Amino acid sequence: ATPTAIMVGTGLGAKRGVLFKNAAALETASGIDTVVMDKTGTLTKGEPEVTDFIAHGIDEDELLALVAAVERESEHPLAGAVVDYAVARGVRSTTASAFRNVPGHGAGATVDGRKIFVGNRKLMVGEGIDLALVAQERESLASTGRTAVLVAVDGRAVGVIALADAARETAAPAVAALHEAGIEVVMLSGDNEATASRIAAQLGIDTVIAEVLPGDKAAKMRELQQAGKRVAMVGDGVNDAPALAQADLGIAIGAGTDVAIETADVVLMRSDPLDVPIALTIGKGTVRKMR
Ligand code: ADP
Ligand code: MG
Repeated sequence: ATPTAIMVGTGLGAKRGVLFKNAAALETASGIDTVVMDKTGTLTKGEPEVTDFIAHGIDEDELLALVAAVERESEHPLAGAVVDYAVARGVRSTTASAFRNVPGHGAGATVDGRKIFVGNRKLMVGEGIDLALVAQERESLASTGRTAVLVAVDGRAVGVIALADAARETAAPAVAALHEAGIEVVMLSGDNEATASRIAAQLGIDTVIAEVLPGDKAAKMRELQQAGKRVAMVGDGVNDAPALAQADLGIAIGAGTDVAIETADVVLMRSDPLDVPIALTIGKGTVRKMR
């Protein structure tokens, strides 16, 4: 590798806020054939907002107060959106006890003597909760690309919360540019299958791996590598760090968590998905000059 080519590549990247941490990252970027992108916070803005709140057999504000009490204890971005929504509706929430976080699924707690669970379908199934009242609404909301979260009170699902997280403006153009360059694009998400598939379709992504548990993202990288792919992973979350480390090239969104930024080989300071194809192009240019 000629030092000049590396300096030129690093400098070109830096001008756009694409930070290559070392020369090896530039070289690896040149050979990538598959880009795996995290959904929430990478392809989307990572700022979910409640769009629908549905309650069955319980007063809406009463249910919202119960859910908000649980979500106040959680650090999940969806939890923050639910709390904001409750505050905006002027709902006063009480305090939760016996809070329990279930990574990749949701949370539970006791509020006003009632057992509350909030989270995805898997969480409810695991807790033996009756889904009859909300199954239909959950499906129709998810099919629109919104994240549908269920709420259970004392063993029965009585609420559905739909949350929308807008795609970054340049997510679809970034996917198109990668395809143009002959690179396969895969979406990886902890969100449910219907929601992830809908958003992937909107962005022109044809391969979706959904309902991936936080601990399983790195294993998905290994599977792709074992199939002979040279994989770049693009992510922002704490959940993404092991996958960023496992990938041939880890690319972190600059607005993401510290651990993702520290683990990655490349950091996109502008948090712009379009900088993903640009990073790979800079890698190719550098290697060409080295030969
Ligand atoms: P992602 O990778 O999309 O950020 P996570 O693995 O963090 O997703 O969570 C997966 C799913 O679990 C979420 O889409 C949501 O349905 C559910 N979930 C997790 N934590 C919570 C919570 N605190 N409140 C509501 N739902 C939750
Ligand atoms: Mg994310």
